[in-house]
Amino acid sequence: MTAQSPPAPDDPPPKATLFCPACDHRSHVDGDWLVRETARGTRYRCPDCRTELTHRPAFEGSRPPRPGTHWPAVVRAWGDSVRTWQALCQRLTWLAVGRT
Ligand SMILES: [Zn+2]
Repeated sequence: MTAQSPPAPDDPPPKATLFCPACDHRSHVDGDWLVRETARGTRYRCPDCRTELTHRPAFEGSRPPRPGTHWPAVVRAWGDSVRTWQALCQRLTWLAVGRT
């Protein structure tokens, strides 16, 4: 088999291939599907029969985060970590002082 030969019918389709349930049209997820972005999500329709394949709801995490979006959570986690270590050090100091 050469690199330019079409895939054999028994070969599994490449990953990220979508199939139209109505007319068996198939294409990569970035292929020729009619994609419509709305505020509520992304809709994929078949270019041949217009059947809606899937509707991906718009989640906050479905798009690349904007720079700095995660900083409040990072700062909170860092603060929690510092407080945990402070409490541990205070307890260890108390135990060491209590034993002497
Ligand atoms: Zn179709």
